[in-house]
Amino acid sequence: MIDETEKRILDRIDANREQIIAFAEDIAAHPEPGFEEVRTAGKTAEFLKSLGYEVKEHLAITGVKGEMKRNGGPTLTVISELDAIGCHSHPMADRRTGVAHACGHHAQMAAMIGCAIAMADPEIRDELDGNVNFLAVPAEEYIDADKRTRLKEKGIEFCCGKSEMIRTGVFDDTDIALTTHVHMVPVEEDFYLGNPPCNGYTAERVTVRGKAAHGAIDPWNGVNALSITTSAVQMMGLMRETFREEDHVRLHNVIRKAGDVINSVPDEAVIETKVRAASLERIEQVMEMVNRAYDGSAYAFGGKIEREVL
Ligand SMILES: [Zn+2]
Repeated sequence: MIDETEKRILDRIDANREQIIAFAEDIAAHPEPGFEEVRTAGKTAEFLKSLGYEVKEHLAITGVKGEMKRNGGPTLTVISELDAIGCHSHPMADRRTGVAHACGHHAQMAAMIGCAIAMADPEIRDELDGNVNFLAVPAEEYIDADKRTRLKEKGIEFCCGKSEMIRTGVFDDTDIALTTHVHMVPVEEDFYLGNPPCNGYTAERVTVRGKAAHGAIDPWNGVNALSITTSAVQMMGLMRETFREEDHVRLHNVIRKAGDVINSVPDEAVIETKVRAASLERIEQVMEMVNRAYDGSAYAFGGKIEREVL
């Protein structure tokens, strides 16, 4: 059962159905990478302004916040995400950057602007207590570590938009945050926007230092960074049997570099390692195991490990 106000909200959203869908389709057709969502942010800011919201821009570089303060009570922040994810093979991928809205953030944007349309209606607002903010955040996808760590020179401390916004106080006036995400949870419909529980994570970039040597005439004097890397990754694979189901551990690596030329023993490898789990304690425990795998492997081959938390 829904009450009169709820019905009015749904009617208001339905009445603007075409506009909301067109907004999302335009975003899907113009995907932008995290912290570079200039067009998407500009479009969102203009739209919120046109509805009468007071708009703040350039939060954590590209973030946009629409506010309509009017009374006391709790403040709800409705969140959506601006960025697309790297997916070169997606039919709608941007040719230059290789990103696409394969993570469905354009659908989140539609949910947020639909809600903003309803909340801009004075009759609806008069029926409700509290305040609503609308927040479009950059860089939900935790990718592009190289590029994002360079943003630290520009004062961005966290590689992820929401974390950076928490740090810089954008959420200070928020009592309740509400967001949606497309999920591949089995449902009868094709997809749904919802909020199932999500894991936390930590990630590090590991540089393996070996020793270069000619591959044919002098390999015995080399320390192979690729061998250290593959051995460490193999150890992590064997460690998986200790992960308990209830901790929902997920452990993934991407090897960014593992040598320069085939003629010589690789002396440098770069790997990004990400650990997800359902509790901070378990994330820390698994990251310790990961670090033992890297350190143990480097010890065995006589190399060195450098690590940087991303
Ligand atoms: Zn996403």
